[in-house]
Amino acid sequence: MSSRIILIGPPGAGKGTQAARLSEALGVPAISTGDIFRANVKGETELGKLAKRYMDAGEYVPDEVTNSMVADRLAQDDAAEGFLLDGYPRTSAQVDELDRILAAEDKAIEHVVELTADTDEVVARLLARAQTEGRSDDSEDVIRHRLDVYEEQTQPLTDIYRSRGLLRQVDGLGEVEDITERILSTIR
Ligand code: ADP
Repeated sequence: MSSRIILIGPPGAGKGTQAARLSEALGVPAISTGDIFRANVKGETELGKLAKRYMDAGEYVPDEVTNSMVADRLAQDDAAEGFLLDGYPRTSAQVDELDRILAAEDKAIEHVVELTADTDEVVARLLARAQTEGRSDDSEDVIRHRLDVYEEQTQPLTDIYRSRGLLRQVDGLGEVEDITERILSTIR
């Protein structure tokens, strides 16, 4: 089974947790744009310096920057037979870029899994994560802003993928293991 999968959902829906588990189950790499940006921030690269300003404000990093980073990542060997994208695409310009990258290789996305969770739940999870991980963008006002940006810029992408027949909605509330099973059963 080849797997080219997008995970979409608001901050705090559990995309990163599920991406790691699905990566294991499906044998394809989980590619998280947020993780790549954070690694660059930590390494103090030029990309990291640029991205940090946006991340700390809860804004999206500009499309051109994000798109070229993802194009490079998807060109690596381990992504040839499939991948799970966690946190990309988040804007319609990113959808276009991903379409272009895949079309150039005669490939296509198979499933777009939307993890759903209500606002109170995701805010609570992110505030709890702030305690344990200390992410600089997990303060309450930045969290609220990230949720607004998600609703405005990323939620509409579900309509695009729904119209292509690719959208699979999965309830993101419950035990981590159960959610993984739900996702696996919808894509199998
Ligand atoms: P969350 O889903 O909780 O917001 P991520 O780790 O996925 O966390 O992303 C953290 C931050 O990284 C975002 O707020 C944004 O600044 C940046 N980022 C991640 N993915 C993208 C993307 N596809 N486009 C633009 N910015 C992104």
